[in-house]
Amino acid sequence: MSTTPKNLEELKKELLDKMPTKVARKRDKAIVPGAESGETIPVIQANVRTIPGILTQRGCTYAGCKGVVLGPTRDIVNLTHGPIGCGYYSWLTRRNQTDAGEDGDNYIPYCLSTDMTENDIVFGGEKKLRAAIKEAYDNFKPKSISVFATCPVGLIGDDIHAVTRQMQEELGITVFANSCEGYKGVSQSAGHHIANNQIFRHVIGTDDTPVEGKYKINLLGEYNIGGDAFEIERIFEKCGITLLATFSGNSTITQFRQAHHADLNTVMCHRSLNYVAEMMETKFGIPWIKINFIGAEATAKSLRRIAAYFEDPELMARVEQVIAEEMPAVKAAAAEVLPRTTGKTAMLFVGGSRAHHYQDLFREIGMETLAAGYEFAHRDDYEGRHVLSTIKVDADSRNIEELEIEPDPVRYNPRKTPEQIKALEDQGVRFKVYEGLIGEMKKEALIIDDINQYETHKIIELMKPDIFCAGIKEKYIIQKMGVPLKQLHNYDMGGPYAGFVGAVNWYHEIDRLVNTKVWSLIKAPWNDNGPELEAAYVAD
Ligand code: SF4
Repeated sequence: MSTTPKNLEELKKELLDKMPTKVARKRDKAIVPGAESGETIPVIQANVRTIPGILTQRGCTYAGCKGVVLGPTRDIVNLTHGPIGCGYYSWLTRRNQTDAGEDGDNYIPYCLSTDMTENDIVFGGEKKLRAAIKEAYDNFKPKSISVFATCPVGLIGDDIHAVTRQMQEELGITVFANSCEGYKGVSQSAGHHIANNQIFRHVIGTDDTPVEGKYKINLLGEYNIGGDAFEIERIFEKCGITLLATFSGNSTITQFRQAHHADLNTVMCHRSLNYVAEMMETKFGIPWIKINFIGAEATAKSLRRIAAYFEDPELMARVEQVIAEEMPAVKAAAAEVLPRTTGKTAMLFVGGSRAHHYQDLFREIGMETLAAGYEFAHRDDYEGRHVLSTIKVDADSRNIEELEIEPDPVRYNPRKTPEQIKALEDQGVRFKVYEGLIGEMKKEALIIDDINQYETHKIIELMKPDIFCAGIKEKYIIQKMGVPLKQLHNYDMGGPYAGFVGAVNWYHEIDRLVNTKVWSLIKAPWNDNGPELEAAYVAD
């Protein structure tokens, strides 16, 4: 990589030079260097309002609530309360796959909306919402219906919680609402928090039927994009680990209801599910650890961490055996691509966790990350959870509810004593710890929060990566610049990329993307030496 710390300042200057002074001043705080190998972690500005007109990557609170956290559960009917656009554009566009199971209850292929019109805006939409819930129930007889508010709902004052309470009583199933109007907060992140609150309040721990199995865990913040959760489930099964619930890839409402029987919560995407992890610990006494199944080495490390927590030699031996069985295929695939991928460079600007997790996969095939950042992460995702107490909640996020959780008078059962926790920490099992993205990136790297289209173009021009990872909005614009773009939201219809099988898929795919000849054919050969034909006017 050619940039030096001095270059980094120059890069930043070039990025901000053309912006109006006020905008440049704000954006300046959202761009920092990495801090690998013990340098001081810089403070980054994150989770603040998007600058109007800047062409952000961000989405809205409804997208974070319905689209991300609650959408992937197959047997809860999701009903969008609003005009038709929000439901329509989020209909099957996230690739959270599911196994329809023996009961066959799978409502993911459907898009249900109250399709509000002018009349509902003027006279209120509660009547229509009630009728829609009844109609959904009559058609599907589901175990649960969840209602999602869109922008106009909060503005016209529809009381969706009163409606769902009445309908729950009338229908005898779980009906709950999410006040996830798109304008709340500053991004999808507020929607995650709202979804965490509502699933915790209405569903988690509502079924005390004991669950059988050894080494019971939950997987939090894994959405089964392209089958990632299927691969993780395969690995857990091979190791003999009992997975009670995944929040929320390939999940059912029954799993959520019984999730409080787990002895450990493992957190994959910290941003979207840390709230449930914290609340389950307070209410039920279940500790949580951060894990990552993106990258073969990271997968092995995470499995060892889970085994260490249970302190059972049988599980530890089984985990080592599984790693030994799975690794040869991974190593062989890496060895095959390494001569072609080593030394190539990447940039990742995705969501709230992947821009960090996927750096492991790139590292495994000799690729370096030049720049990375999130759309909607908070400072703790960048700088580590130790900064949590220093984060000020600003006016834009203050209206997102914080639930006050108390230990359950009957069911609170701390899974480990403070002494056991201390002993495990001494062995390297770290509880409630997430180190964040910045500490894993070199000081020459550029970290940018809520990157916009102009900055994206600029850093590509200035740093010339071999591959850029982002989403569908960026894909074709960037590819027109001659740089391959790998979508890390929908995986370009590929995957899985998690676990051991996922790593092999990833190595091959990245090799194909960065080495295909198509990028060398972008410029027409006749443009190299000036025009081939020249004409002159007879009159000249
Ligand atoms: S911002 Fe509002 S209108 Fe747009 S998708 Fe989100 S909820 Fe719907």
